[in-house]
Order: sequence, then structure tokens, then C-alpha cells
Amino acid sequence: MLNPKPNINALHTYTPGKSKEEAAKEFGISTWIKLASNENPFGCPVSAEELSQALQNAALYPDQATHQLKQNLSTHNAMPVESIVLGNGSDDILQMLALAYLGDGDELLTSDCTFSVYAHVAQLVNATVITTPLKEDAYDLEAMEAQLSSKTKMVMIANPNNPTGTSKNEHELRGFLDILPDTCVCVIDEAYIEFSSEPSMVKLLEEYPNVVITRTFSKLYGLAAFRIGYGIMHPQVAAVLEKVRQPFNVNSLALDAASLALKNDAFIAKTLENNSEQMAWVRTKLSELACEVVPSDANFICIRFNQDAGSIVQELLKRGVIVRHLKSFGLPEAIRVTIGKPDENQLFIQALKESL
Ligand code: PMP
Repeated sequence: MLNPKPNINALHTYTPGKSKEEAAKEFGISTWIKLASNENPFGCPVSAEELSQALQNAALYPDQATHQLKQNLSTHNAMPVESIVLGNGSDDILQMLALAYLGDGDELLTSDCTFSVYAHVAQLVNATVITTPLKEDAYDLEAMEAQLSSKTKMVMIANPNNPTGTSKNEHELRGFLDILPDTCVCVIDEAYIEFSSEPSMVKLLEEYPNVVITRTFSKLYGLAAFRIGYGIMHPQVAAVLEKVRQPFNVNSLALDAASLALKNDAFIAKTLENNSEQMAWVRTKLSELACEVVPSDANFICIRFNQDAGSIVQELLKRGVIVRHLKSFGLPEAIRVTIGKPDENQLFIQALKESL
């Protein structure tokens, strides 16, 4: 029998939010609303026609060096093209960072109850994952500061955090970056930043060249299936990731779709407006049901019950609503629910009422 390396053997396979197909198979119900993976409820903003050119050229390797997307992202973020690296999802950027900057015995510092890919990419390169508990449902930067050691080579901060939806502000992040050695990479994962009341921390890059910002097209831009994200970083760090990056990591359809989605102001405005209105509506309804929620800065909400939420998740499934149980995040008494369109949120609240 072949034996993988011990650190690979110890890895867990990623468990995604349940798909509609999986739920249909399990429960025999044909219509589902999926509020489990923080995708855009309005779907994909790009039509098949708009992607026809990329399809016609699909026999050819993609060429991200000459594609307009990087230039568009440079303009969008007011950062030089040389500071942008494209990824097959922002997960890919996280993995490239681990491959480039973490190794045997190095430490990755992050929080408990956060995005699982951070620990995964660190374990992939045999680094040790150090975490601190959340404080008031948010990253505890002071506790993290106390865990810094000469072995800490990377810090990963989800801002806003998945699954609690809490954010750190610029002042708090600066305080942490000021004590962080400049030899330690600090990744600020902004997968949900567009929904947040806090601005992006891209502006910190000039002052702190060890900061890397990651972004995705999977949430606001409605392109999760295309797998496209990017990192913004000091050009020297970008040059390192360019060496690590698989040569054709982002496909041509994704490059075209992302360029189109980035400038689709109407779709972006509709998504953001729906999110803020519906977040308020869902919170009001949850408080009427006496549910405890964590105030969220993102496109999802974390709801805590006074029991293991597994049975509630099952009851919701029976009623055609897929949400995320947060057991694997270390919060068995909580669920995470994506803010959907009004009709989806109404169905969710009705199903929750019946399930409680
Ligand atoms: N960061 C966070 C905090 C996330 O929640 C996710 C998606 N669940 C990602 C990064 C990865 O997004 P993607 O790889 O689709 O760009």
C-alpha cells in the first residue's frame, strides 16, 4: 500500500455546504433553496453569449498575461498591475502563499472558528497551526499577539470572518501589524469585504509590505463555479507567487466572466441593496423568534441556539432549506445562513419557525 506523507495523511477532506443535488437525493424533494455557501442569490451576471468567444477559443491555453482582467483589477483597486496575482479561487492564492512562505515546523497563526482552508494549506506544507479562541465572536488580535513566536511565519485573518461575519477595523489591524515582525506574512482575507461597513485594507499595503489582501469573485460577483479570485500584495511578493502559480491556473471563461462581472455596476448595486435590506429583515424576524444572532458585516448570518443545531438543520432540510451547520467550525450550537432574495428569506424564516 502506498503511504502519503504523515502531514498529508492527517488532513481532512474539505466538506462544502450541501448542494441542491445532494439534498434532493437525500430527501426526495425537488425544489430547494440553498443558503449554505454564501453564494450570490441573483446567480451569475454573465450570459453564455458574452462568453462565446472564450468557448470558441477553449482549445487554446488561457493567457492571463495579456488578458485585460489584471489591468481592470489594477484600476479597480488603484494598485499597480505588478501587485496583483490571479488565482483559481482565492483558495488558490492562500495555497500559493503557504507553498512560498511556510514550511516544516513554521507556524501559521489564525483564529478558532474561521475559514478552514487556512489550517488546510498550512498542514499541506507541514507547518503547525496555532489558533486562539474568538472574543465576542471576533478575532482576538491581542490573544494572537501573545501567541507570536520566532516560528510564526504567517498570520491569516478573515475580515469579515466566516462564519461569524465580524470585522476588525483599521485601527485594530494597524495595532496588530505594528507589533508583527516584517518577516511575517499577514494575509487579510477580504472574501466578503464588499458587504462590510469596514473599508478594504488595501491601503495598508504601502505602509506594511508584508500584508497580502485576498479577494474573490465567488460572492458579490456571482461566479463561484468559475473559480476565480486574486491577491493584492507587494510586487516582490507577487513575483514570488508568480513562480509558485500553476502556469494555467485560471481558465479563459473565468477570465472573461470576471472582467464582465467587475464592471456590472447594476448587478453589484442590486446585490448590495438586497443584502442590506434583507439582512435587516431577517434579523428582525430572528429576534421575533428570540434567536440569538451575531451582528454580521457580510452576506450571511450566524445564529446560535441553546442546543446542538444538528436537529434544526435536519428539520430545515426536510422543508427544502439548506443552511450550514457550524459543528465543523467548532460551533455545534450554531448555523450560518446566507442572506437570499426576499422570497428565499421568507421561506427560510417560515421553515425555521416550524423547525424550532
Ligand atoms: N475566504 C473566505 C473567508 C471564504 O469564506 C471563502 C469561501 N467560502 C474563500 C476565502 C474562498 O473563496 P474562493 O476560493 O471561492 O475564492
